[in-house]
Amino acid sequence: MAGIYVHIPLCGSRCYYCDFYSSTYHGNKDDLLKSICKELTTRKEYLKGEPIRTIYFGGGTPSQLRVMEIESILQVIKENYDCCVEEITLEANPEDLSLDYLQALKDCGVNRLSLGVQSFKPGDLQAINRRHTVAKAIESVKMAQQCGFDNISIDLIYGLPNQTLHDWQYNLQQAVELRVQHISAYSLTFEEGTMLTKMRDRGEIKEADEELSFEMFKLLRHTLSQNGYVPYEISNFALPGYESKHNSSYWNYVPYLGVGPSAHSFDGQSRRWNIANSRLYISKMAAGDTYYNIETLDTFTRYNEYVMTGLRKKEGVDIAVLETLFGKDLKEYFLRMIDTYIKEGKVIKDGQHYYLSEEGIFVSDYIIEELFWVE
Ligand code: SF4
Repeated sequence: MAGIYVHIPLCGSRCYYCDFYSSTYHGNKDDLLKSICKELTTRKEYLKGEPIRTIYFGGGTPSQLRVMEIESILQVIKENYDCCVEEITLEANPEDLSLDYLQALKDCGVNRLSLGVQSFKPGDLQAINRRHTVAKAIESVKMAQQCGFDNISIDLIYGLPNQTLHDWQYNLQQAVELRVQHISAYSLTFEEGTMLTKMRDRGEIKEADEELSFEMFKLLRHTLSQNGYVPYEISNFALPGYESKHNSSYWNYVPYLGVGPSAHSFDGQSRRWNIANSRLYISKMAAGDTYYNIETLDTFTRYNEYVMTGLRKKEGVDIAVLETLFGKDLKEYFLRMIDTYIKEGKVIKDGQHYYLSEEGIFVSDYIIEELFWVE
């Protein structure tokens, strides 16, 4: 089973923290969609006939498309791939949603929504230049529920400029009260070249200190677990049975095809990424030129990736799978390196699974790095 990721690099405005590839220029949308459909048809061998279990529209802002445009992409997938699709996710900006739009999305097969809420405090949304309001975010969740969506995820960010622990607690409480099935919560990162990083460097805003970020992370885990959400991955919390199938596949090292500008693909051995420029993507697709880069991953790089994603998951690393994928020597290396953390109580061994304890989760980056193979 495999997944398809469709990158829609269109946004209504640019958020100050974002370094994903997207543009507010929509003048080439038709050509862009044609190119995405062409890529889907020309790369149907990439997944070697594996049935498609999940489809994910990410971005950018896929809800900037009309539903008939989303439907036409789904149609191309259906016509060209062996589909046993269980989950179709669409990322959406609350500002784009109406009852009619949501109903049409549901009718065309989208069964999971991922809403970029980020915060329930108006000041936070302004500070990061989000397009939607708090009222619209709440309304969009309620409208989606009214239309029968029973698998809704919201994204939240903590460590925003001037955000207090009390503000974060308020955000978590609001999220819980909406009874969405899934919450992704990320600590704000200052990526190179973003507006927020420039503002920080000019001294206009301050980065949350480490201690506050740590307290926010603790509060996140505590509040969501108290309310029935399982932290199945470090930044992802779901009511039982509502874990993201698509993202879980990434973390379980399942191959996926990514189409559209800047989209990444993985076939089990190599990673391939498309050019992050819509104009060039369109012209190269039309001319039949190469529009991607490719890197074949050596065993050690794949091992490091597997350990990193594995330890971020609740069930941790499966040692039997690790041995099958990377051989006996790397298995023994892993066991040797992880032993210290088991003795310190930061990692728990349960049968063939090795996962971070509650204590280990708070120093996960350090432990993961220590387990990496370094030549
Ligand atoms: S809407 Fe999403 S992709 Fe677009 S700028 Fe904001 S965070 Fe980035």
